[in-house]
Amino acid sequence: MSEQVDVVIIGAGAAGLFCAAQAGQAGCSVVVLDNGKKPGRKILMSGGGRCNFTNMYAEPAAYLSNNPHFCKSALARYTQWDFIELVNRHGIPYHEKALGQLFCDNSAEEIVDLLLKECDDGNVRLRMRSEILAVEGNDEGFLIKLAGAEIQAKSLVVASGGLSMPGLGATPFGYKIAEQFGLPVLPTRAGLVPFTLHKPLLEVLQTLSGIAAPVTIATEGGMSFKESLLFTHRGLSGPAVLQLSSYWQPGESVSINLFPELNIDDFLNAERESHPNQSLKNTLAKHLPKRLVECLQTLGKVPELTLKQLSATQQQQLIDTLQQWQIQPNGTEGYRTAEVTLGGVDTKALSSKTMESSQVPGLYFIGEVMDVTGWLGGYNFQWAWSSAWACAQAVIGK
Ligand code: FAD
Repeated sequence: MSEQVDVVIIGAGAAGLFCAAQAGQAGCSVVVLDNGKKPGRKILMSGGGRCNFTNMYAEPAAYLSNNPHFCKSALARYTQWDFIELVNRHGIPYHEKALGQLFCDNSAEEIVDLLLKECDDGNVRLRMRSEILAVEGNDEGFLIKLAGAEIQAKSLVVASGGLSMPGLGATPFGYKIAEQFGLPVLPTRAGLVPFTLHKPLLEVLQTLSGIAAPVTIATEGGMSFKESLLFTHRGLSGPAVLQLSSYWQPGESVSINLFPELNIDDFLNAERESHPNQSLKNTLAKHLPKRLVECLQTLGKVPELTLKQLSATQQQQLIDTLQQWQIQPNGTEGYRTAEVTLGGVDTKALSSKTMESSQVPGLYFIGEVMDVTGWLGGYNFQWAWSSAWACAQAVIGK
């Protein structure tokens, strides 16, 4: 005999736990299945251990999808302010770090505790270390086969996330379920991920490992972000690079403006006036890390001249170089370090109001498993909360 429940949710991550709590509190019997030991593993790792749980400026423009309108309804129905209100209700202290990004003051564990408490209030049953052997559709909904047990559910919610960080339990399970039930899955790739570099350039830039600089960075297609760039021993990282990586296509160059705020022409002219014998290197080091200027000299991008030796043509060339430093990444670090997975279950096969499959009644996909990916900065958790909430309302109504 199989156990009968209203809803089975696969994945005890951000979206799965939040959806379970909402449905449970409305009176649904809910079981959450997860292959890991602990719920919310990515939440615990997120935001450097402090979980950037939402963004005050969350809006559809901050999400990538083949179907850019899809996220609008859910984001409007359960907003960042709704989740902030929940965080306040649980008495969790938080702060804005930058650009509307809200982080816990203490620990990401407080967000997992919030979700588990909400699940408890809804009598949700969590079954960790569950290996799902098969899922079958039938007249009553879905039969989920586990080792030594079967669960019959009226609704099945797939919240198994994307492929990023396999070390934290990521699997392609959700895509396989989608394919099994005939839903299209768009090609996936790593997003919010550092760039790797070709060897000759890497060898020079490796010496800058750990150095950061505020920049504007742009793709060939014109998408740009003004944030911090970090040099690492593998290549380029930092918020500016992570953001751009979601828009970058293999083979493309990226353009880096090392002086996003300053008029370099005016600066160089003023410096020449007051210190004509000052080296270009020392002049630029007033605004850039000295080691970065030395690397730019090694790469032949900054001539070894004094200000008075620098001709007008050379100055213009230098400005162009510093404002449009072209680097062609070798690739990205891939799913191993990516924060998110782009692509996934095609939203064209889902209702934007309920997250339910239009072909398979009772089958829902929420969170990162579908083709909706946010920018860095709390947007991905907000999508998890908003899509989970929309789905829960639909499941409750069944
Ligand atoms: P997940 O949270 O990934 O949950 C999926 C769950 O499904 C997991 O518990 C997994 O064990 C389970 N599962 C997978 N396969 C199976 C299977 N076969 N059987 C059973 N269970 C399965 N976003 C932000 O907004 N702010 C941040 O600060 C932030 N920091 C991040 C830091 C890191 C290091 C990483 C990797 C990501 C970060 N993100 C952040 C992104 C964010 O964590 C994800 O977008 C979000 O967790 C997606 O929620 P989800 O519930 O869809 O999937």
